[in-house]
Order: sequence, then structure tokens, then C-alpha cells
Amino acid sequence: MMQKKTILIIDDTEANIETLTALLGEQYDLLISLSGREALALLDEEHVDLVLLDIVLPGMDGFEVCRRIKAEKKTRDIPVIFITVKSDEDSIERAYELGGVDYITKPFRSREVLSRIKKELTLQTMLDELAHLASTDPLTKLYNRRHFSKISQHALALAKREQEALSVIMLDIDRFKRVNDTYGHQAGDEVIMHLAKTIMAHLRQSDFACRFGGEEFVVLLPNTSIDDARYTAEKLRKAVEENAAILSNGEAVYYTVSSGVSTVDLKSESLIDSALKRADEALFLAKEHGRNLVR
Ligand code: GH3
Ligand code: MG
Ligand code: MG
Repeated sequence: MMQKKTILIIDDTEANIETLTALLGEQYDLLISLSGREALALLDEEHVDLVLLDIVLPGMDGFEVCRRIKAEKKTRDIPVIFITVKSDEDSIERAYELGGVDYITKPFRSREVLSRIKKELTLQTMLDELAHLASTDPLTKLYNRRHFSKISQHALALAKREQEALSVIMLDIDRFKRVNDTYGHQAGDEVIMHLAKTIMAHLRQSDFACRFGGEEFVVLLPNTSIDDARYTAEKLRKAVEENAAILSNGEAVYYTVSSGVSTVDLKSESLIDSALKRADEALFLAKEHGRNLVR
């Protein structure tokens, strides 16, 4: 059973709310707001999948409510459908310009409204899936490198604002070619998945792991000093060393990883790239010094 989608109705007229509730109440979870301000406060707290927005409202009008929904990162992807008695072209044009996805005039036809809402929700689900696909690695389900770039900029901005250390671990499977050569490419894939799981099992909620390349991973650790990052990398190294990947054919594959750890210099660095470069150099040293090491 699919979870019900949540629709927020923003309307100040009792009769409209009653009609819409009767129409939508069975299929959807409904939230009601009688004013724009109340709605915006609600949107800040609750998960909402779609907004039905009246234009004539007490205080802040529907246009302004829409503008604010679209201006906030948290809410800007929520589809907004205007539903109003105003049918002049200026209002319609303005509604779309402000980011509305549809415009329904009152009095409306019930089944048409249902169809239009359903269409927007389906489209939104597809967009969400696409965004997810574009940001994740299909093998490990970890974030990919593209998404990492995006996230790391946010993390860095936050670290600067909060004056909190931001560290990175770059991690690479040792002699992975041998794993492929000995057990086959499919087994190699399973080892990569095993490592992804091991990494996830050892991170904090706020840490961020990504598959950077073939058998190379990067972990971003907000609010973490270089010493704590090294400790985490060491914990990971040990966990990998001690826990073999059990292949789907039952075979146990022991493998090891090497890591390079670095921290961002918040005073002088405005990109994560130099920290990544230092982690990569440290990783190179770990390889040089015999592998299964943290540097
Ligand atoms: P080192 O200890 O120096 O890291 O040696 P290595 O063999 O791990 O490193 P190298 O970079 O020479 O080789 C990495 C190998 O990883 C080569 C490539 O075929 C394999 N590889 C990369 N991506 C995948 C993947 O998705 N699946 C599998 N099975 N193998 C992969
Ligand atoms: Mg390797
Ligand atoms: Mg490599």
C-alpha cells in the first residue's frame, strides 16, 4: 500500500474548504490553512507534496505565498496549483511567472481537479526519482561524485558559518585488481558493495559518504577534527580488515583498504578541492608504505 500524499489547502472560505475536503479527503492526507502566514509556518514543519492555493486571502495574498514557497530551498520543489475565482489573464500569467504549475478557476469541475492534481503528483514523483538517479551510484546506492561536489560546497559554507572543523577521508581498496583477477569482476562488485555497507555502518548521521570512482570512496565529516577523522578512518580500516565480504556463492573474500585523511583550512580555503588533494596525497603515501594503512 502506497503512503498517502499530503496536500495543503490554503483558503480562507469555509465553503471552499468543505468542498475540497469532500473531494480530496479520501485519497489524500489534507492540511488546511486559513492564511498565508499560517501556511508558511506549517510548510516549515510538515512534509507537503502539493499545495492548493487561493489568491484572495486575508493579509498576504496567494501570489506572495507562492513567491515565498518558491524562494525557500526547503519548499521550492513543492508543486503549487492556484485555485481561485480570479479568471483575468493578468492573474493567470502572474501565477505561472511566480512558479505555479497549474491554474484552476472556481467554480471548478471535481473530476477535472482530481485529474490535474494526480498529474502533478505523478510528475513530481518522476522528477524526484530522476534527481535520485542523477545523484546516486547504482551499485552501492551511495551518492556519486557529482552529488558530492554539490554537498561539499554546502558543508563547507556551513562549517565556515559555524566555525566547525570539516574533514575528509579518501579511501581506496588495496590491490583490488587482484580481487577481480582472482574471483572475477562480479565478485569485485560484491566487494565494493560490502565496503559501502561497512562504511555506512561506521559513520555518524551527519557524515556523508560517496563513491568517488571505481574502488575509491570519499567521506565528508562535518564538525570533525583531523584527529577524529583519523580515528574514524582507523576504525574503518580495522573493520574492513576483520570482516570478510561474503560473496553470493558463500565464498569469503578478505581485503583491506588504505586511507588518506585531511581537514579543510577554513581560513584560507573556499573549495573542498585542496583538502581532497591532500587526502589523495596522504592516500598515496599509505599505499607506498605498504597499504592497509591510514595516513
Ligand atoms: P592499489 O592497492 O594501488 O589501489 O591497487 P589496485 O589494484 O586497487 O588499484 P588500481 O587503481 O590499479 O586498480 C583498480 C581496479 O579496480 C581496476 C579496475 O578494473 C577495478 N574496478 C574499478 N571499478 C570497478 C567496479 O565497479 N567493479 C569491479 N569489479 N572492479 C572495478
Ligand atoms: Mg585500489
Ligand atoms: Mg584506485
